[in-house]
Amino acid sequence: MELTTRPLNPPPKSTCLVTGGAGYIGGHTVLALLDAGHEVIVLDDLSTGFRWSVPNTAKLIIGDVGDFDLVCRVIRTNGITSILHFAAKTVVPDSVRDPLGYYLANAVKTQTLLAATISEKVGNFIFSSSAAIYGNSESFVSEAQKADPQSPYGRSKYMAECMIEDTGAAHQMRYAILRYFNVAGADPKGRMGQSTKNATHLIKVAIETALGKRPCMEIFGNDYPTPDGFAVRDYIHVADLADAHVLALSRLQRGTGSFTVNCGYGRGYSVKEVVDIVKALTGIDFKVRLAPRRAGDLASVVANSDQLRSFGWRPRFDELSTMVRHAYQWEMELASKRH
Ligand code: UDP
Repeated sequence: MELTTRPLNPPPKSTCLVTGGAGYIGGHTVLALLDAGHEVIVLDDLSTGFRWSVPNTAKLIIGDVGDFDLVCRVIRTNGITSILHFAAKTVVPDSVRDPLGYYLANAVKTQTLLAATISEKVGNFIFSSSAAIYGNSESFVSEAQKADPQSPYGRSKYMAECMIEDTGAAHQMRYAILRYFNVAGADPKGRMGQSTKNATHLIKVAIETALGKRPCMEIFGNDYPTPDGFAVRDYIHVADLADAHVLALSRLQRGTGSFTVNCGYGRGYSVKEVVDIVKALTGIDFKVRLAPRRAGDLASVVANSDQLRSFGWRPRFDELSTMVRHAYQWEMELASKRH
């Protein structure tokens, strides 16, 4: 008898429009979609993404996700059946300084993209949301917890969520809203990683400091109501998050209905614990300075990830040391890229 490893009922392949597919999380999801056999068309204005990060096996269209006519044309000419929407502004403190820029990029442009989705009758919509839509919480945050965003960034993402839910209820559009916790790490095969210039995310900043790209790093606040006084976050490896998108797409294709799901591991690390792991793994005792709390920051944000796990999601890289190692390898690789 011949043995086969193919699943009995593989979901059909989809032609995916990935907005923001030249960026960090969008880019890793492009790799995962291609690896799963889907066709990928990236729409990106390259404001923070990179042309070189889009593989040759995907098509890149440079343009604005807020351009209704362009998006409709791209959907029609490429036969798009699913949209994955990553294009966004993503830095909490920036959003405090520039709220209107964030509402335009994250809320207004999502409205335009949804209008194009409905106008062109695309059936599946997957959205990059954020744990920033939750407020402060003492325990693990489940999807049922009431939204209480504390920053313009969080509010802009929540506005987009509301639009997506209402659009899904009124039209033939299934949606998956993925609420990311703190995304870190890089492609385990070394094809991609966090490449943003002037990065503000903790693990990236710590690794840049270890490599001497920064003279010193700051820790924002040591007076939080947490066990060691430092802010606590749930860090998720970007490749596990990319897998969650492929899984979400296959659920939508199978007709399981729309859903909103947390993407984290359900385990928190304090800023100090993260910095200590980066120091231990790199073997470099880089300079760290204590600074006041950063505007918009919460004390503790850790996911209840039961729902995503119940969908069959099995994280492959859920050790903080693995995330830091992959991010470190990528940071060294980055020196050889034109960016
Ligand atoms: N953080 C820090 N120093 C840095 C960058 C971040 O102390 O240079 C802290 C930040 O205040 C927060 C945590 O690390 O408590 C995670 O911040 P990050 O910007 O990585 O993600 P966020 O949780 O804001 O999405």
